[in-house]
Amino acid sequence: MEKLQNYIDGALVAPSKGTYLDNYNPSTGKVYSLIPDSDEWDVKLAVEAANRAFPAWADKKKDERADLIMHLAHLLEEKHDEFAKAESIDNGKPLWLSRSVDIPRAVSNLEFFATASLHFASESHNMDGHAINYTLRDPIGVVGCISPWNLPLYLFTWKIAPALAAGNCVVAKPSEITPMTAYMLSKLCVEIGFPKGVFNIVHGLGPKVGSAIVSHPDTKAISFTGGTKTGAEIARVAAPMFKKLSLELGGKNPVMIFADCDWDKMMKRTIDSSFTNQGEICLCGSRIMVERSVYEKFKKEFAEKTNALKVGPPLIDDSRLGAIVSKQHYEKILSYIDLAEEEGGKILCGGKAVKLGGEEKDGWYIEPTVIEGLPYNCRTNMEEIFGPVVTIMPFDTEEEALKYANATEYGLTAMLWTENLTRAHTIAAKLRSGIVWINCWLLRDLRTPFGGTKNSGVGREGGWEALRFFTEPKNVCIKL
Ligand code: NAD
Repeated sequence: MEKLQNYIDGALVAPSKGTYLDNYNPSTGKVYSLIPDSDEWDVKLAVEAANRAFPAWADKKKDERADLIMHLAHLLEEKHDEFAKAESIDNGKPLWLSRSVDIPRAVSNLEFFATASLHFASESHNMDGHAINYTLRDPIGVVGCISPWNLPLYLFTWKIAPALAAGNCVVAKPSEITPMTAYMLSKLCVEIGFPKGVFNIVHGLGPKVGSAIVSHPDTKAISFTGGTKTGAEIARVAAPMFKKLSLELGGKNPVMIFADCDWDKMMKRTIDSSFTNQGEICLCGSRIMVERSVYEKFKKEFAEKTNALKVGPPLIDDSRLGAIVSKQHYEKILSYIDLAEEEGGKILCGGKAVKLGGEEKDGWYIEPTVIEGLPYNCRTNMEEIFGPVVTIMPFDTEEEALKYANATEYGLTAMLWTENLTRAHTIAAKLRSGIVWINCWLLRDLRTPFGGTKNSGVGREGGWEALRFFTEPKNVCIKL
């Protein structure tokens, strides 16, 4: 069985204790590879390597750094099919999705930040001709990047690319649930001769490896994407050490549908925003609010269309939903469907596990599920489920819709469907979330600020925000 390796100081190495964790294929429920069960010793070696590499990497001309990152992007693009298949097997997501979204976006992340770093500029403040200030933006040093399992290589590269392009050395940890494509990326780094120690990947468990990265005194900034509870734990450890922190956390995103929307566009994209990647995208809409005059029409059509979505093996072309990423997560989602029923919800479609036969008989599959009849503030409507489960509810006025939308402790994204321009702008301004999509979903311009408010996170990623996060500003004031 394939044993994955850490990538430390330019080499692929076994974990220091020689122990491994099982890596499951969610479509079959079977172990198919082994992951290094690394610990704080491996993290220490990685941080030391990164520290040694830092002065030379930070001193390199930015176009030399960009060239190396672009080289990695090109190689990844050449191996697109191999990576897409690996991502799909490791995560359970349909192959069409990793082909069309995950791997192309990982390539774009590398390309975007490699080139963005060439155009990054800093400020100058002239004091009425008496003095001039200019801001230097230096790389921070060694930084930690920790990513989740839902968009494995996509989110991993979203962090490491700006960190490296800005001149930092990186110690990164992909999720232990989906480590494969980060491992494959480390092999590409070896192939192109990425300078030793600049980029290190330590595999293993969050509370062991992740927490060792966060608590190591020499990691000066931590960029984390994952659950809100984990984010709180990271902040608890890192804040007293005065580390820079970027936290991209959970969501419970509202979708607000008004009777005047472009119906067919709304319907198609709301199916996507509910069930793409089995609903395991932090940006999925999970609470759908519909203006009462069209509620019954919406309910019927939405349930019919949801029922028609095929759940199947990830590598089969017509599977619209694949497998849930892990047994633990599968059980969590099913427990939330039970909770919804206990809270008085009516299941309009789905609601059960899907049992496939043959090779996939022990895989973790769940029907796309639509629930109605729940109060806006019950647990099902307040807590993140992160699966193919949505609730629908009617509203009468804009104020009521806004009250429901803003009711949770999360504030990542919100979707709004209306052709009324004034209403669109007015509601967008009042929504308490970091991102608002009007008449669209997941339309991403990598230059825009990305992140959440409230318990969905602290700080923003994307564009200059990421390059600012990964650099330390220094003001120089000259009296003229
Ligand atoms: P998670 O918090 O369990 O794990 C995320 C990463 O943190 C993993 O690599 C894990 O090993 C590591 N980790 C766990 N405990 C740690 C600790 N004590 N110290 C340091 N690292 C630790 O999250 P998950 O289950 O992998 O991902 C799902 C969550 O991620 C959902 O809540 C989802 O909304 C969120 N998410 C948010 C965004 C966003 O951009 N806001 C994007 C994707 C996913």
